Amino acid sequence: MGIKENIADVRARIAAAASRSGRRAEDITLVCVTKTRTVSEIAEALKSDAFELGENRAQEFLDKYGNIQDIAEELSIKRNIKWNFIGHLQRNKVKYIIDKADLIHSVDGFKLAEEIDARAAGSGRSANVLIQLNAGGETQKSGVAISESGALAKEIGSRLPHIKLRGLMAVVPAVGDPEEARGYFREAKRAFDVLAKRYDGAGEGFDHLSMGMTHDFEVAIEEGATMVRVGAAIFGPRSYETEDV
Ligand SMILES: *Cc1c(COP(=O)(O)O)cnc(C)c1O
Repeated sequence: MGIKENIADVRARIAAAASRSGRRAEDITLVCVTKTRTVSEIAEALKSDAFELGENRAQEFLDKYGNIQDIAEELSIKRNIKWNFIGHLQRNKVKYIIDKADLIHSVDGFKLAEEIDARAAGSGRSANVLIQLNAGGETQKSGVAISESGALAKEIGSRLPHIKLRGLMAVVPAVGDPEEARGYFREAKRAFDVLAKRYDGAGEGFDHLSMGMTHDFEVAIEEGATMVRVGAAIFGPRSYETEDV
């Protein structure tokens, strides 16, 4: 199957999982994970109206950004494209992506959040961010423990006016059977619900729960994901890994 067919297939699976959780397909955002993929592969995805793109490294993000924006311009879809930054973000890279990323999924500590706030202020905007949860407490992955997410959210909310806290992102252990990830997704959703009660009233729209990848996105949706980050199911297996997520 080609990229177009793969996207149609992923969308059908998203719709089915959404309906199992009492929601509609439109309630779930598909982030098309484009790391390691060529600009022409990404252009194929754009032609299937996959407008939410996800990159996990600042350098690669910047390398592709201009080309993709040009293609989007030619296709008259530039306004539809949304750039998601989904990987570990070093503080010294924030300045390069701050005016390009529509949503940063990977805030994993106050210091990074502070840098994002300062750079956003400097470019006269607010930054949309998610707090990244390391749901399985794995040492090789970044993200905060679920139990620490409330405190970090509070600190960000009270001290960083140029950040819009839009929700949570969760990474979970790579398990053989996606059913084994269900408990982690459920815990992330529970934390999300608690924080959503606290922040949604502030008018910021604490409405994104980003969880689920190729292997487990259907289970994640059943447990409440509003965004899934899918690469391999769209573009085929990656020939190399850029990060062990
Ligand atoms: C690579 C990556 C994904 C997508 O993984 P697939 O298994 O290709 O769907 C999702 N989230 C993050 C943070 C990633 O780095």
